[in-house]
Amino acid sequence: MIDDKLQTIFDQVLHRNQGEPEFHQAVREVLESLGRVVAKRPEYLDQALIERICEPERQIIFRVPWVDDKGQVQINRGFRVQFNSALGPYKGGIRFHPSVNIGIIKFLGFEQTFKNALTGMPIGGGKGGSDFDPRGRSDGEVMRFCQSFMTELHRHIGEYTDVPAGDIGVGGREIGFMFGQYKRLTNRYEAGVLTGKALFYGGSRARTEATGYGNTYFVQSMLETRNDSFEGKKVVVSGSGNVAIYSVEKVQSFGGTVIAVSDSSGYIVDKGGIDLGLLKQVKEVRRGRISEYVDLKGASHGTYFIKARDGSIWDVPCDVAMPSATQNELTGQDAKALIANKVMAVGEGANMPSTPEAVRLFQEAGVMFAPGKAANAGGVATSALEMQQNASRDSWTFEQTEARLAQIMRTIHDNCARTAEEYGAPGNYVLGANIAGFVTVAESMRALGV
Ligand code: GLU
Repeated sequence: MIDDKLQTIFDQVLHRNQGEPEFHQAVREVLESLGRVVAKRPEYLDQALIERICEPERQIIFRVPWVDDKGQVQINRGFRVQFNSALGPYKGGIRFHPSVNIGIIKFLGFEQTFKNALTGMPIGGGKGGSDFDPRGRSDGEVMRFCQSFMTELHRHIGEYTDVPAGDIGVGGREIGFMFGQYKRLTNRYEAGVLTGKALFYGGSRARTEATGYGNTYFVQSMLETRNDSFEGKKVVVSGSGNVAIYSVEKVQSFGGTVIAVSDSSGYIVDKGGIDLGLLKQVKEVRRGRISEYVDLKGASHGTYFIKARDGSIWDVPCDVAMPSATQNELTGQDAKALIANKVMAVGEGANMPSTPEAVRLFQEAGVMFAPGKAANAGGVATSALEMQQNASRDSWTFEQTEARLAQIMRTIHDNCARTAEEYGAPGNYVLGANIAGFVTVAESMRALGV
C-alpha cells in the first residue's frame, strides 16, 4: 500500500508515463517503502523532492540505421535514460533485446539509481538499450549495429557525464565495438567512458564475474544471519548469461550444488550438479541454446531439458533460488511452488525478476528475500572499480578486485539489514534497500539544490 501522502506523487507518475507498467511497478515498490520514512522522519515528506526522484533528468530516443549482411538497411530504436546524477555521472548498462522500450529502460534506470547509491560509490543512475535482437546476427552485423548506435550515443556520454556498460545482449564483444567507435569519433582514448571492457584495453579483472559472485556473497550473508551457509544446499539459478554462469561458479565454490539453469527456450536439470565447464562451453564459446548442454552430456534420468512451454524452472525443488534471467520471470505461482518445496532464500541476480505478488508471498512465508537492487549491485560496483583503475591508469589483480567486491557486498547487506531494523521491519531487505538507497540520493539532491 502506498501511504496517502505519497499517492498524489504516484498518480502523477502514472499520468506522465502512460503504458509503462514495469516503470510503474518499480516506482510503486519504492513509494510503498517510503511510507515508513515519512512517518518516522517527516522532513522527507518533501513532495517535490520525491517527484523529482521519479522523473528522469533526461531521456534520449534515437534512430539506429544499419546495413545487414544482405546489404539491406535495417532500422532500430535506441534509448538512453539519464535518470539521476546527484551522486556521480550517470551509470548503468545497455540492453539489446526485442522487448526493449522506453518504459523498460526507465524502470531499469530508476532501479539503477538506488542500486548505485547502495554501492557507496560515486555513480548516478542511467540505462540504455535498443530493440535490436542480436540473436542469429553475424559478428559483422553486430559490429555495424554497435557502431551506428554509438554514432548517436557518443554525443551524450563521457567519463564525467555518463558511463554505460553491458546488460542483457551486451557483453565484451559489443562493448569493444562501441568503444572502438567512440574512440574513432572523438579521437580520444577515454577508457573510463564505458565499463565491461576486455582486460587488454582498460577492463577490470573480476568484472565479468562480479554480478553473479556478488549475488552469491549477498545470499551467503543472509544465510549467515540464520547461522547457515551454502554448504550442502541445492540451488536453482535461472538464466545462463553472465550473471547466471558466475553465480553457479561461486555457489559451487561455497559448497552448494546448482541443479538447474535456463534460457528463454526452457531449462535443464542436472541432478549431480551443473558441469560448469560444459555450461561455459555451450553459452560462452558456442553461444548456443541451453538444450545443447543435454545433447553434449547425454540425456539420462538425472540430466534433462524441459521446454519453456512445458514447465517452469521454479518447479524444481531447491533450498536457494537465484532468478538471474529477466524482469518478472518469477510469478506468484512460481513463488507458491518454491514455498511448497521449502525454499529458504531467494537472491535476485536479475533486475526485478520477481513479480510484486511473488515478493509478498516470500515475505509472508518467512523466506529470506534479497531484492536485485541490493543483491545484484556487485556488477555495477565493480564497474566503478574499473573506472577507478582507468582514472589512475592502474590494473589490479583478480584477488584485490574480488576482495573489494566481497567487502562492498557485505557492506550493502549490513546496511540494508540495519536500515530495515531501524524502520521497524527486521529482515525486510526490500524495505532496507529502498530506504537506504532513497536517503542517500535524497540527501545529495537536497545538498545540490533544485
Ligand atoms: N547492467 C548491470 C546492472 O544492471 C551493470 C551496469 C554497469 O555496470 O554499469 O547493474
